[in-house]
Formats: sequence, C-alpha cells, structure tokens
Amino acid sequence: MILIGTMNLTGTRDRGNFYCPTCAVTQTYRLRARRPWLTLYFIPTVPIGNAELFVQCDTCRSTWDPSVLEMDQQSHEALREEQFRDEAVRAAVLVVLADGHISESEISALQGIASHLLERQVDREELGWLCSTAEQSGVEASNYVLTVSRRWDANQRTKALQAMFLAASAEGEMGPKQINTLAKMREILQMSDQQYQGAIEQALDWETV
Ligand SMILES: [Zn+2]
Repeated sequence: MILIGTMNLTGTRDRGNFYCPTCAVTQTYRLRARRPWLTLYFIPTVPIGNAELFVQCDTCRSTWDPSVLEMDQQSHEALREEQFRDEAVRAAVLVVLADGHISESEISALQGIASHLLERQVDREELGWLCSTAEQSGVEASNYVLTVSRRWDANQRTKALQAMFLAASAEGEMGPKQINTLAKMREILQMSDQQYQGAIEQALDWETV
C-alpha cells in the first residue's frame, strides 16, 4: 500500500516592522507562506495549490492578512473607532429588544442616540435589519457586550453604557429585563460604582438637552 497524504508547510518569506493591531504598538513581524504539499510516506514531494501568505506578529503571534502592512496606526485607530460605533449601536438595539418588542418612539430614540452620542447615522432600514438579525440569533445584550467590549477603551465603555441606558429609557419606564441587563453592565464593562453612576448621570443631562 502506498501512503499518500497532504501536509501544510509554512516558511518565512520576509521580516520587518509593522503596527500590530493586537499589541497596539509597532512590533517585528514575519511574512509567512503556507502551502499544501502532497506527501508520499509522510514525505512532502510536490506542492499542490497556491501559497497562502500571512503576517505574524513576533510578540503576540496574532496572524493577519498581508494588507495589514499597508496600514498605519492612524488608520487602525479610525477603523477601530468605526467598529466600536457599530458595536455600540448593536448593543443599544439589543437592550431595547430585551423586553421583547421595539416601538416607534424607541426607533427614533435609537436613531437620535446613534447620531448624537455615537456620531453614526442609522437609517430605519439598517435598524430593521439589526433587529431581525438580533431576534434570529437570540443573542442577549449582556453576552454580546461581554464579547465585544474587550476591545473598548474606557471612553468607549462609557459611551456604550450611555447609549444602552438612553435606549432602554426611551419610553420612560424600563422593563425588568432591561433594568437587569443594565445592572449587569457595570461588571461586564469593568466600571467602578462611581464611573457607572457618573456615566448614567451624564446621560441624563444629555437627555434633557
Ligand atoms: Zn502583536
């Protein structure tokens, strides 16, 4: 019996410095190529398929598409901020949906919160899409925020909490599930009682403006 198989071989093509989005500083990297080979008796004989190139940070070992090398710190930060805004809007939508429905006044409140607090325009179509994907996935606001907030800085955490609070209180009275979700956010967002309270107070000021 002839033993035929495949294996991936990875080699280093280049080295240099780049801005690593995970480490958030300039690090050294290796440009690596991974290519599948046909093996005979476990010995690689012929390459099959094209080499797949990726960049690996020498420090944190994260891997990236080679296009990461074309981005500087500024574009990464802009991208991260944009991603934060999307995530905060989604978190606010999930808090609104925690009581099982979304009303007209909540829809306009979400639009106002997104454009004033998060500087991001959200049209009704996008909100509708966010609501239906949220309902389909069944993800809870607290689980969602727990996952995405790891990338948020202190300022972003405050803004996201304010967005969620304002969205939940848009109809005046919060449902028990909404209160429960917002209470959990203090721990999830790793805020002190003082920070949490300060953020809510600031949001209340904002609301009356
Ligand atoms: Zn790194």
